[in-house]
Amino acid sequence: MPKVQSVHPVISPAVSTRVLWTALAVVAVLLLMAYLVAFDQGAVSRSGMYLHELMHDGRHLLGVPCH
Ligand SMILES: [Zn+2]
Repeated sequence: MPKVQSVHPVISPAVSTRVLWTALAVVAVLLLMAYLVAFDQGAVSRSGMYLHELMHDGRHLLGVPCH
């Protein structure tokens, strides 16, 4: 009689938890940077128009409404 094998398969996640949290952190930082470059008018960065002026050409290059 053949030996009965376990009916419970070994489950391994496709992506490890560490990689998942790292990816989420990277996405969060990139979203924050995109916000600061494209939409911030000093309300979050508290830099007045400094970031706006610094990123002005890039803002126009990306087609973000500016002025
Ligand atoms: Zn502009």
